[in-house]
Amino acid sequence: MHLTQHPGLNPPVFEATITDIIDDGIFLDRTFCYPRGGGQPGDKGSITSGDKFSNMGEVKPGDRILHPLQSPDLFREGDKVECMIDSSWRNRNTMMHTAQHVFSAIANDMYKAETVGNQISDHTTRIDLWFPDRDLFDAEEISLQVNDVLNSGAEVLIHEWSREEIVSHEKMRHTNFMDRIPSSISMLRVVEIEDIDLCPCGGTHVGNISQIPKITIENVKSKGAGKLRVSYS
Ligand SMILES: [Zn+2]
Repeated sequence: MHLTQHPGLNPPVFEATITDIIDDGIFLDRTFCYPRGGGQPGDKGSITSGDKFSNMGEVKPGDRILHPLQSPDLFREGDKVECMIDSSWRNRNTMMHTAQHVFSAIANDMYKAETVGNQISDHTTRIDLWFPDRDLFDAEEISLQVNDVLNSGAEVLIHEWSREEIVSHEKMRHTNFMDRIPSSISMLRVVEIEDIDLCPCGGTHVGNISQIPKITIENVKSKGAGKLRVSYS
C-alpha cells in the first residue's frame, strides 16, 4: 500500500489491526511500510496500542509483510495499533533510492552502461554497472552530470500503466525483470523523472528531484570483465 497511498518522504502515522502474531513480529490488515527489496532497506519504527509500545525492526517482504518487533508478546491478535515509520531512516532511503534512478539513467545515457545490481547501506549507495567499454567511465564527469540533474527541479511522477504500455514505450528502461512479476498483476507502477528516467519501480521516491542533496563518488572498483562497482554518498 505504500505504493499508491503514501508519500515517499515524511510518512504519517497510520492505524491498522493485528491479524497474526509470531515469535519475530506481527502481521497487519494493512500497512504503509516499505518492506526491504530492490536494494532499498525496509522501514523501521514503532508500534503502539494504548499503553503498549514496541520498537519495530526492518520490515520484511513475503507472502505477508512482517513487522518485526522486540516484544510481539505484548500484543494480541485483533489489537488496533498505530504504526510510526522512522522518518529520518525512510527519508534518507527515499533520497538515496531516487538518486540511484538518476545515476543509473545517466550512466546508461553517457556510457550505455546497464545497472546490474545496487545496494543502499548506511552512508553510501553501491551500484554495479556493466559497460560495453568501461574505460570510458569518468567519475568526475558523471558526478557533475548527476548533480546538475539533482539541481534541475525535475518532478518525480508516479503512473499506473499496463504491461503492454510499459514494454512498448520507447523510452522505458529496466523492463527485463518483468517476467518475474506474476502475470495476474496487470497494472504496474512506473516512476518517471521528467526527461531523465522512466522505469517500472516499487521503491519510495521524493516528489521533486531538488529534495536530494549532491552526491560524491567515494570509490570505484573493478568487478570483473566490463563491470565496475561505484560507491557514492
Ligand atoms: Zn524507484
